[in-house]
Amino acid sequence: MPLEFLKRKGQPETGQATTAKPSASPLLPEEIVAQDHILKLYYAGKSSDGVRLKAGPAALAELPHMLTGLAQSPVEVVEPLPIEFSQATPTIVTPSEAMQWLNAHHVHSPITRHALVVLESIDAIDLAFDTFVCALLDGELDTSGYPEYNAVVGGVAAHWDEATGDMICRAVVGWGGKGVRGDTDRIGAKLLGNILSNILASQFALGLTPVERPVPAAGRGGLVCAHCGFASGHERAFYCPKCGMRLLRG
Ligand SMILES: [Zn+2]
Repeated sequence: MPLEFLKRKGQPETGQATTAKPSASPLLPEEIVAQDHILKLYYAGKSSDGVRLKAGPAALAELPHMLTGLAQSPVEVVEPLPIEFSQATPTIVTPSEAMQWLNAHHVHSPITRHALVVLESIDAIDLAFDTFVCALLDGELDTSGYPEYNAVVGGVAAHWDEATGDMICRAVVGWGGKGVRGDTDRIGAKLLGNILSNILASQFALGLTPVERPVPAAGRGGLVCAHCGFASGHERAFYCPKCGMRLLRG
């Protein structure tokens, strides 16, 4: 009985479909065959508490040495971006922001560019105020020199404490791409600890401190550093993000 019912209901429908348009127009099949297209990108990272370092150019110069014994590639220093790059973002769908990003970072090595894409995408560093020293820490490079998805990159991110002018350093690591591997998280955590202990071993280290990130200015920003000429994106910055000297207000 239910079989007959189904048949009767189905027949006029198909009949209608075949007779309605005798032309060559294609029929919409009852079930559409869809091919799925998926790209799963996985970016992850870790950052440590901050370590307060006594302010001064000597502390800044020491940053690259904090990766001694850990870096598997030459250590690169990425300085905070001046105001004209304040919109720089590594996303190609926003061409103006992407162009700023490329103009700011095309000079860096593939390892550093990969690290910046990963760590900026997950908001682990912010080059509006961070100075970032970076290297490959674990894993392999592909034939073009870019880290594989399970390679760990990172180093030390430093910014100037607005209240005291001290330098606040934190360990930052990241990894990711078209794939995930189970043990990368554990390797990343171990490397984070190693970097943190290197930071604490600095002769300028004063101890652990919570990280309070400076808030970037919403508007036009800035002050121009009288010492190094760096144009800060921070209206309320007291210390130049680049050289750490006190900014003079006009
Ligand atoms: Zn400066």
